[in-house]
Amino acid sequence: MEDIVSLCKRRGFIFPGSDVYGGMAGTWDYGPLGVTLKRKIKQAWWDYFVENRDDIYGIDAAIIMNPRTWVASGHAATFSDPLVECKECHQRFRADKIADVSEKVTPDEFRAAHVKCPNCGKENWDDVKQFNMMFTTHVGSVEDDSSKAYLRPETAQGIFTNYKNVVDTIYPDLPFGLAQQGKAFRNEISPRDFVFRSREFEQMEIEYFVDPTTWEENFEKLHKACYDFLENKMGLPSSMIHDLEVAPEDRAHYSKRTIDVEFDYPIGREELMGIAYRTDFDLGNIQRESGKNMEYRDKNTGETFVPHVIEPSFGVERLVMAVLTSAYTEDDVNGEKRIVLKLPENLAPYRFCVSPLLKNKPELVAKAKEVYKKLREKYTNVTWDDSGNIGKRYRKQDEIGTPKCIVIDFDTLEDNTVTVRDRDTTGQVRVDINML
Ligand SMILES: [Zn+2]
Repeated sequence: MEDIVSLCKRRGFIFPGSDVYGGMAGTWDYGPLGVTLKRKIKQAWWDYFVENRDDIYGIDAAIIMNPRTWVASGHAATFSDPLVECKECHQRFRADKIADVSEKVTPDEFRAAHVKCPNCGKENWDDVKQFNMMFTTHVGSVEDDSSKAYLRPETAQGIFTNYKNVVDTIYPDLPFGLAQQGKAFRNEISPRDFVFRSREFEQMEIEYFVDPTTWEENFEKLHKACYDFLENKMGLPSSMIHDLEVAPEDRAHYSKRTIDVEFDYPIGREELMGIAYRTDFDLGNIQRESGKNMEYRDKNTGETFVPHVIEPSFGVERLVMAVLTSAYTEDDVNGEKRIVLKLPENLAPYRFCVSPLLKNKPELVAKAKEVYKKLREKYTNVTWDDSGNIGKRYRKQDEIGTPKCIVIDFDTLEDNTVTVRDRDTTGQVRVDINML
């Protein structure tokens, strides 16, 4: 994990948030390489699930929503973690992370666990309280309870609240899905593990609306699609992806089936994404809270019902981390340790790096610029590098995952061929410029 964090900072992928002011707990900033990687991951997801399918449509809802949203969804009442404070050193902890207790632990249960403060070693605790993880804000100029609002803790509710607008405007046939990518916010008591658990993060969620009698087959199809995406678009090895069938007692009360798809991260096997059958829980709640009819009318039979929902939910940062984890490799080249990011070509921030063998030879630089310009006309994400010597450039391009380095040398001036060097094998071939 430390190796990946260090590479991310050294090469401009991910920095601690507000670094110049000493940081801001639970936030991370993406640098030039990181934002390119992240955007490619998000675009690949959007292409796979929205653009290349006939049955899933995109939406983009506001982050600040009517507070009734969170009453209907249950977040206002129950979206909380058990918080406990040490009376000696005043450090606060998530009770279920420092003791073998559940998220719903009572003060008595926590006392009975006799756990010592991880900070000062004493056992003198205040009562466990449920701490709501939604960030609050105020809308407009008056700061009182009537203006209180929340930063959304999930993107899903922006989809559910638009279900009726979509049905009434584009008349999709069931089953159909609505997809959204966007920021979500959770005031985690103890953010940790790099970008894995942060206070501000991005989600990619699909709510797939189905006839209740068909939920099982639709669950299977989406589950399969998620695996296809993870393995074939994200390049994650199937040996590192695992299904965790969530036991009935651990599922949300309304869910009849939930699978957590876990990944072998450096911090251990942890949740990468989830697929949940949410029944008609959300649309039913909205129907009650808003008084609007959420029923779907079948175009053939005329039958009406509230659709049930299957929800594949991805965390962008967790996917970024999984991609980095599976790509990070250390090997040995001519007796020297080499760090290489074996990113899939579709995700690498740069496709090609073009450089002159020597930067103080104007004829080489001019020829290299010509090749660079030519590739630029055809491709995005081509980079130019004439820093240091060629060995150092290869090392840098290996660390940021550039699949191919193209080098212009004196032979190029004679026969119009260049060296193309492969990131993974370090093998080199001569290629005619017109064949690039
Ligand atoms: Zn303490």
